[in-house]
Amino acid sequence: MSFAEIIGQSRIIRLLRRALAQDLLPHAFLFTGMEGVGKKLTALTLAKVVNCQEGASGDCCDRCISCRKAASGNHPDIDVIEREGPFIKIEQIRALKHRLRFKPLEGRYRVTVISNSQYLKVEAANALLKVLEEPPENNLIILTAFETTGLLPTIVSRCLHLSFQPLATVEISAHLCKTHSIAPERAAVIARLAGGSLSRAMALLDEKQISRRNWILETVAEIHKSRIPDLLAATNSWKGDNLDLQQDLEWLKTWIRDLLVQQFEATESVGLLNSDLADKVETLASHMKSHHLLQIFDLVCTVQEAIGYNVNRRLSLETLLLLFCARATGQATQAGADLPMVARERFGWPVRFGG
Ligand SMILES: [Zn+2]
Repeated sequence: MSFAEIIGQSRIIRLLRRALAQDLLPHAFLFTGMEGVGKKLTALTLAKVVNCQEGASGDCCDRCISCRKAASGNHPDIDVIEREGPFIKIEQIRALKHRLRFKPLEGRYRVTVISNSQYLKVEAANALLKVLEEPPENNLIILTAFETTGLLPTIVSRCLHLSFQPLATVEISAHLCKTHSIAPERAAVIARLAGGSLSRAMALLDEKQISRRNWILETVAEIHKSRIPDLLAATNSWKGDNLDLQQDLEWLKTWIRDLLVQQFEATESVGLLNSDLADKVETLASHMKSHHLLQIFDLVCTVQEAIGYNVNRRLSLETLLLLFCARATGQATQAGADLPMVARERFGWPVRFGG
């Protein structure tokens, strides 16, 4: 992989190439952006470029011994620090500090990529700050993170911060067609659902994920016709671990978003994320009020948060579907007034979603 092959981040690549051409590399970068937009890939490619033995035009050759070692993860001067368990620990930063005492073994630069640095433990972050304050020569440290919140402001201020944008739908779609030989229509649907993340798009190539989305969305697509026993039966068959459930609720959020888009721009279906289910979006949108959809969206977010506190998942989902059903079938006032209280009692957790 070279700079020329990284998709969707041409502005960032241009900046990096200019810094290389002018020999103005900082000692530390911070790459921020959502998951799957190429932060770590760009960091590792930059590590190759600065150590390439042949590349002369601000890119790597991908042929020399240095490039080949980097590509196989065996370059002695390129390290990646990932979290061990929930955090990046102070021992990992101490080990980095120890390595930095020595000159690079083979390359021009020792490059250390600290992936997902929002997971630095406080003491690890403080130790890293000291490294960033007095960086030894010929070292390049690249931090990646979703966003700057969660990082010490003093760490952020010591890095050159580059913000990675979500990839365009057409870029993801074209990449899927090229690399996986899938039909353009399927690629377009997946690209929309991926929301700008290439890694998410890759995961969605797995048919199981799309099938699960279809099951969730088809359950709510007909909710204006549903009977309470059917909804309770649906929650009975709503299985999976917490990660599955979080993803299911993300699907539900895309669905609510599409219903709102449909209501505001009834003639414009191209803006739908679930564009392959446009007919169902149109039907349900005509049965719902916008402020009720926003209320349900809030409840989905609350349930997502509550799942992290090990609440009773089945009761949470029942409450969610019951509110959705109540709003879609016009029982808004009565059912809506009661549900927050029911939810509070059942969740054992402060629930805010208004009356
Ligand atoms: Zn090379």
